[in-house]
Amino acid sequence: MRNWPMILPFFLILCLSPPGGVQGLQDWDSVEIQVSPIRGGVNFVTAAGGNLAAFVGPDGVLVVDADYAEMSDRLISTVKELAGSDTGIRFLVNTHWHFDHTSGNEAFAAAGATIIAHEGVARLLSADQVMAAVGGREVPAAPESARPSITFNDRMNLTLNGDVIHMVHMPDAHSNGDVIVHFRDADVIHMGDLFFNGRYPFIDVDQGGNISGMIQAVEEVLDHSLESTVFIPGHGPLADRDNLLAYREMLTTVRDRVRALLDAGMSRDEVIAEKPTEDLDEIWGSGLTGDRLVGLVFDGMSRGG
Ligand SMILES: [Zn+2]
Ligand SMILES: [Zn+2]
Repeated sequence: MRNWPMILPFFLILCLSPPGGVQGLQDWDSVEIQVSPIRGGVNFVTAAGGNLAAFVGPDGVLVVDADYAEMSDRLISTVKELAGSDTGIRFLVNTHWHFDHTSGNEAFAAAGATIIAHEGVARLLSADQVMAAVGGREVPAAPESARPSITFNDRMNLTLNGDVIHMVHMPDAHSNGDVIVHFRDADVIHMGDLFFNGRYPFIDVDQGGNISGMIQAVEEVLDHSLESTVFIPGHGPLADRDNLLAYREMLTTVRDRVRALLDAGMSRDEVIAEKPTEDLDEIWGSGLTGDRLVGLVFDGMSRGG
């Protein structure tokens, strides 16, 4: 089993919005929670927002990502049921700050979880934010109890339930403060929104995200994983190495094409009008459209990414 080295150098509107629209939704109760055991105590859990992992065992439960607050009661009972009645939810790890992964923090903390995240996540959740790339959406500061109480910068290791969990920061990729969560012995990696399986990714260019950082993060994960590794994407179905390789290929193609048009002196609108992703849209464009992705890629590159 390979280890991480000690030092490592909505669908926009859809994935960043609750089901049924941005405001006033009614249909949270109709969202189905699905649980698929992977191995070694790690379970893949899907609900309304970003995909979760629930790692259960005799020491207690560690959950990765917290979905929307409206899903918390049902998610917490689902996880407790998985774990058996006498083990609590001890830890919640946030892969990044976006509300489809962190809005449930408050409820998980109230259920006993200690929240762990990158320093960038703690900073972003501690103040009101505006997401210009999502139409100026306002994201109010999280209540104090919903903010991470254990933070780290480059990496953190945790031993739990006989496995070792490596949390590794991937700088300037999908957002500010992205981490991957590697369950070493189970051979499972939760990639947060560094990986949208089968879909174009959203990139939070307002917080330093850019496509080169996304590609670098994917490369690093590929370098430190095995043929047998199972990947949990932030969005989309559970993935194997071939799925991640296909995603890297798509990202690289899009980056190279947009870079060439930008280098040729085209404006943002001109680059989008060139439709550089046209032949990829049928496979990858089911969430975020090709045009939206190209705009985000262009924005990231214009800011030096
Ligand atoms: Zn997400
Ligand atoms: Zn995200």
